[in-house]
Amino acid sequence: MRILLKNIEYLATFGNTGELSHAYILVENGVIKDVGKYTAEVEGQFNVDEVVDMSGRLVLPGFVNTHHHFFQTLTRNVKKVQDAKLFDWLAYLYEIWKWLDEESIRSATKIAIYEMMKSGVTTTSDMFYPSMKESPRLFDVEIESAMETGMRLHIARGGMSIGKKDGSLPPDEMIQTDDGILEEYQRVVEKYHDPSRYSMLRVALAPCTPFLVTPNLMRETLELAEKYDVLLHTHLAETLDEEKFCIERFGKRPVEYMESLGWLNPRVWFAHVVWVTDEEITKLQQGQVGIAHCPVSNMRLGSGIAPIHKMKGKLRIGLAVDGSASNDTNNMLQEMRIAMLLQRVEYGANAISPREVVHMATVGGARVLHMDDYIGKIEKGYAADMVAFRLDSVEMAGCLDDPLSAIVMCDAKEADFLMINGVVKIKDGELIGIDIAELVRKHNVLSRKLLSRRVDAH
Ligand SMILES: [Zn+2]
Repeated sequence: MRILLKNIEYLATFGNTGELSHAYILVENGVIKDVGKYTAEVEGQFNVDEVVDMSGRLVLPGFVNTHHHFFQTLTRNVKKVQDAKLFDWLAYLYEIWKWLDEESIRSATKIAIYEMMKSGVTTTSDMFYPSMKESPRLFDVEIESAMETGMRLHIARGGMSIGKKDGSLPPDEMIQTDDGILEEYQRVVEKYHDPSRYSMLRVALAPCTPFLVTPNLMRETLELAEKYDVLLHTHLAETLDEEKFCIERFGKRPVEYMESLGWLNPRVWFAHVVWVTDEEITKLQQGQVGIAHCPVSNMRLGSGIAPIHKMKGKLRIGLAVDGSASNDTNNMLQEMRIAMLLQRVEYGANAISPREVVHMATVGGARVLHMDDYIGKIEKGYAADMVAFRLDSVEMAGCLDDPLSAIVMCDAKEADFLMINGVVKIKDGELIGIDIAELVRKHNVLSRKLLSRRVDAH
C-alpha cells in the first residue's frame, strides 16, 4: 500500500529535512519512503494507491504521550475530589477503582485513546496498576482493547504492594505481594513485549510509586527489567507529601531513595519530578533517566511546577496527559500549551519556546520511551506516524508567521488528519470507522455504575 500526502502547506519533520513549505510525504506499508518539496511533477513520479491533498494543513510527527492511566476516564471530574490534593484524591478514588471490571476497562481504554488521537497522539504509554483478585485479566483486557484502536503502545504494568494495613492508601484488596507482582511482570513481558523495530506494542515494568511498593520490589523489578531488556517506570517527587513519606519511611528524599535502589539509570523514566533540587537534577542527569512531564495534572492537584526550564538539555523529557482523573482530559495539544505557559509563570517569558514544547511532545517522548530510532520524526525509514492540523480555520487566522508554533500559541482545536503505522485513523477531522456516540453513551452508564459502588455514594 503506497500513499502520497501531497501539497502539504507546511511540514515540520524534526528530522534531516527540517521544515519545508509545500512538501510531500510518500508512505509505503507503514513506513516513510520519501519526503521532499512538492511540485506538480511529483505526483506523476510515484505509482501510488491513494493520494491525500494536504493543502492548508500543517503536518508533523504524531505526538508521544509518556504517562497515563486509561482506566481513570471512568472517574473524571468526580465532584467530591474536584478540590483535593493527591493523597486525599487517591484515598477517595481507590474506593471506587477497587470495583473496576473487564467491561469498564475495555471502555475506558478506548475513550482515553480516541480522545488522545483527536489531539494528535500516535504513540502512548499507560501505567496500569489496579489488580483485583476477582478480575485477574484486567491488564490483558486493557492491552487487547488498546490494540484494537490501532494506537502504537508502550504499556507499563504497574503494581502496588503496600496497602492500608501497612499505613498506605489503597484498599488491601487492590494490593499484591511482591512475589505476585514479579510473577505478573514476567508473564506480561513474555506474552506481550515486542522489541522489534516498528513494534506496535512494548511492555515496561512499573512499581507504582515509592509510597506504594517495598524497596525489595523496586530492586527485584530492576533485575527483571535487565534480564528481559525492558524499560522501568514509576511516579517520582510528585508532591511534598510524597517527599515527607519517603523521609519518614526510608530516611531519604525521593531521588536519593531511587539512587539507593539503582533506579537512576537510562532504562528508567519517571513521571512528574516536581520537587527536586539542583543537585538532584544533576544526579538524574548522571543517571540518564527520562522524564514524563505532566503540567496539567500538577496544576490540577496543586502539586507544584516541575523545573523543566532547569532540566531541558540535560534530561530526556517527554510530555504526558497523566491519568484522566487528574487532568481531566486526554488532550495533548492542551498539555503542550500549558507546559509552555506554566514554565513562563515561574521562569520568565523565554523559559521555553513553543518549538521546544512540540519537540518534547514528539522526539522528546520517543527518546523517553527508547523508540526514537523509528518514531518522533518524519524521515525516510521512520514509521508513518503523523498528524495534520488545519491552518485555515478561524482560530489560526493571522498565525502564519510561524505555522509550527501556531499549534501551541493559538488554538489548533483537534487533528484534521492522523496516520499511525501507515493507517489513516482520522480524516477531515473524523475518526474513521468508530461509533463514538455509542461508545460515549455506554461509557457514561459504566461510569455512573462504578461511582455508585462507593459505600458512601448512596
Ligand atoms: Zn500517574
